[in-house]
Amino acid sequence: MNASQIDILAIAAHRDDVELTCGGTLIKAVKLGRRTAVLDLTQGETGTRGSAELRAAEASRAAEVLGLSARENLGLPDAGITNTPETRAMLARVIRRFRPRVVIAPAARGRHPDHRLTAELVRDACFVAGLQKIEPGIPRHRPLKVVHCTTYREDFEKPTFVVDVSDEFEQKLAAVRCYSSQFEGAIQAGEVYPNGEPLLDIVRHQGAHYGSLIRARYGEPFFTTETMRVDDLAALEVSTF
Ligand SMILES: [Zn+2]
Repeated sequence: MNASQIDILAIAAHRDDVELTCGGTLIKAVKLGRRTAVLDLTQGETGTRGSAELRAAEASRAAEVLGLSARENLGLPDAGITNTPETRAMLARVIRRFRPRVVIAPAARGRHPDHRLTAELVRDACFVAGLQKIEPGIPRHRPLKVVHCTTYREDFEKPTFVVDVSDEFEQKLAAVRCYSSQFEGAIQAGEVYPNGEPLLDIVRHQGAHYGSLIRARYGEPFFTTETMRVDDLAALEVSTF
């Protein structure tokens, strides 16, 4: 495949993170004709369930369900992600190869230190990818925009926007279900706070909650540090009442 044609690159700490946080958004983007890719930073070798090999097979099945053009793994140490000149350069190389317009990053806060550090690392790497003197052998590219997934983060700011994934939600759950080593019988994963019900039910209820913020059945929330621009006030959606 031609990596230079990627529109949206989602970067996450662990395999299965993107499915849980922005899988519906990636599926919808493909339906809209966009080319999407995922970069997982670690191989999940310290996870309590499943091996790195099993998770690799699960991730490639999930990639097909999401309709990704590419999925790569950076091989950083699980539970040991750091934001250093070396890791920024590693990420910048991938960003320059894919040349995405938009990069999806994790939320800036979270229970798992890998998630918080990945959010910071992704932003810094996107900036560094635009610097001429870093890795001068590869043409520089700085993505236009970084958006942060805030799914499951109730301690975070109100989302800047929510993507309506009502028509994509069952396919998102199918992608999550590819990780049977992680989720079979599970009541907790990643940033999902357990409440006793099966994990997929929590994911569905959270999706319905975010959907309700835009008066839709299911949604996925995002935060941007930039303010969203509007041209036509009369075209605004989402009823106040
Ligand atoms: Zn994770």
